[in-house]
Amino acid sequence: MKENYQLLLDGIIKENEKQNIVPTLLLHSCCGPCSSYCLEYLSNYFKITVFYYNPNIYPSEEYFFRVDEQRKLIDKLDCKYPVNMIVGKYDVDRFYKTVKGMEKLKEGSQRCHLCYELRLREAATIAKSEGFDYFTTTLTISPYKNSTVLNEIGKKIEEEIGVKHLPSDFKKRNGYKRSVELSRMFGMYRQDYCGCIFSKMEREAIKKLRETS
Ligand code: SF4
Repeated sequence: MKENYQLLLDGIIKENEKQNIVPTLLLHSCCGPCSSYCLEYLSNYFKITVFYYNPNIYPSEEYFFRVDEQRKLIDKLDCKYPVNMIVGKYDVDRFYKTVKGMEKLKEGSQRCHLCYELRLREAATIAKSEGFDYFTTTLTISPYKNSTVLNEIGKKIEEEIGVKHLPSDFKKRNGYKRSVELSRMFGMYRQDYCGCIFSKMEREAIKKLRETS
């Protein structure tokens, strides 16, 4: 039977509330718009530090623009517990090494699974060294991303590194729709491709095809 990760998250939140605990969470964020709903929702139950680690993003101008958008969003959001932010290293070479040989695969393929793992592993490493209670990622909000794969990667890394992964499926309960609303409300930039050069090329090819057909 398919796991319902939203229900798992509900259970963890309920248990922490019962014990009067507000745990710390290192929330890996792919971009400001996707993090908007996740922050609005999770900041009622966790003390969050956003971890911006996305060496997959191309070109560098886009990367730095997304970092700024993330910062602006955190400043604008009115959260129950203050939200901090850590910006990871923009280690582009690490991303290209990770996905070597998979450049021509489509979005959603094994290339993406390795890209998720790269970012989640870095988040877990920082969460462990900085003593966070949990780590997770905003990536499950995207309709283009497989939440089962993301949660299975998170669980595997939890066991390897020894820091708790917070299960999630943020697209449930209209999370994605709410993120679009919040992005509009805050006048945020919403990119039309996932992030890497390959996804940019794929999106441009689709656009061209539509224009000529
Ligand atoms: S399409 Fe997105 S998830 Fe897949 S490799 Fe590129 S940036 Fe990573």
